[in-house]
Amino acid sequence: INTVKSPDISREKSSALYETAKGYFPGGVNSPVRAFKSVFGSPLFIEKGDGCFVWDADGNKFIDFCCSWGPLILGHNNPVVKEHVLKAIDNGMSFGAPTALENDLASLILSNNKKIEKIRFVSSGTEAVMSAIRLARGYTKRDKILKFDGCYHGHVDSLLVKAGSGLVTFGETSSAGVPQSFAEETVVIPLNDKDAVRAAFEQFKDQIAAIIIEGIPANNGLLIQDKDFVHFLRDITKENGSLLIFDEVITGFRLGFEGAAAYYDVNPDIITYGKIIGGGMPVGAYGASAEIMGNISPEGSVYQAGTLSGNPVAMSAGIGQLSQLLKPGFYEELLSKTAGFVSDIQEFADQRGYAFKIFTIGSLFWFAFTDKDIKTAAAIDASSMQYFKVFHRELLNRGIYIGPSGYEVGFVSAAHSQAELESAKKAIFDSLDIVF
Ligand code: PLP
Repeated sequence: INTVKSPDISREKSSALYETAKGYFPGGVNSPVRAFKSVFGSPLFIEKGDGCFVWDADGNKFIDFCCSWGPLILGHNNPVVKEHVLKAIDNGMSFGAPTALENDLASLILSNNKKIEKIRFVSSGTEAVMSAIRLARGYTKRDKILKFDGCYHGHVDSLLVKAGSGLVTFGETSSAGVPQSFAEETVVIPLNDKDAVRAAFEQFKDQIAAIIIEGIPANNGLLIQDKDFVHFLRDITKENGSLLIFDEVITGFRLGFEGAAAYYDVNPDIITYGKIIGGGMPVGAYGASAEIMGNISPEGSVYQAGTLSGNPVAMSAGIGQLSQLLKPGFYEELLSKTAGFVSDIQEFADQRGYAFKIFTIGSLFWFAFTDKDIKTAAAIDASSMQYFKVFHRELLNRGIYIGPSGYEVGFVSAAHSQAELESAKKAIFDSLDIVF
């Protein structure tokens, strides 16, 4: 690894803010990966965003490929989303009572997504998954959940087992504080391994409430699964009276309006959403057939509630964002823009003979320092992260902001124009030349 450094950006104000934050928050942050633990330097404190750009407290300007970890498919400060938020705020922030805005967002989603018939709004992806798991357990009257090594489903107790980037970045795979008895209800198996799934169903016959899988596993690198494997999961769950939960917190409204379920042409029993659905405001959701959703309180006996669920300002932001995604050609343009961006970088790396591979699907990409095809968490060589560390620093120094962990994916938004993608490519080429 070439450790020659380009001149570092100034971080004076960010560093001072971080010192102050450390006095307030554990590790100085309110979500662990933000702490820059596995890359050079300390977190940049972001002051504002507009389009595909963010500015930090020191006035450094970056092209942003983190996009708040996925919600900002239209970029920062989208005028329509902003207008929707301001309009809603005019009427008050929260009522804890039904509003027409909830109906409007639900109708927008359900009339354009044939994979679910009813939906419930919550306030985060974690809540959505937690509720989906409870629903699956209540519906099947079984306890065990089958999850895949490397898939992250939020910081839910029983799913923080082998749960991807946030943990693996810090050298762990599971969290302290999760009782062994909870973890025992979670059966963890490798992705892309039919035999392991079959063996789990044999070992825990009639005990598995659901298989949960990320639409496209994107929290421990981008581990794109074969269509055949996903359909196998659909079949085996059906044969065994278990449910299939698709966690589409990242992929929902990202791969297309109907997410990975449509991409794989599969009909999961329950689907969870987050990120994009709220236009940058805290919204999550889960949906299923009317029959399965009929088990949720107050219609059924699976309890789930929330003071701020369906918050009108957040609903309005979601409407402002999702309505724009439905415009003809929206996804085609975003996807072809991403494909061009990624393939030019790949071509550059290949010509230079670098062991560097970009895994990509839709407008998601993952920079991996490998020449292998990777479909499982175990196939990632942890030592390759030392290359990412240098790459990350070089990108920041050239005005490119990506998530501060080599296990995280990047996002292209509709706000990334061709000109900005061109200048990002140049910065990426130069950074790769420094890394290798
Ligand atoms: N599920 C997946 C697939 C995610 O990527 C995430 C967050 O990154 C979550 C669930 C949890 O969502 P949240 O962070 O909104 O609680």
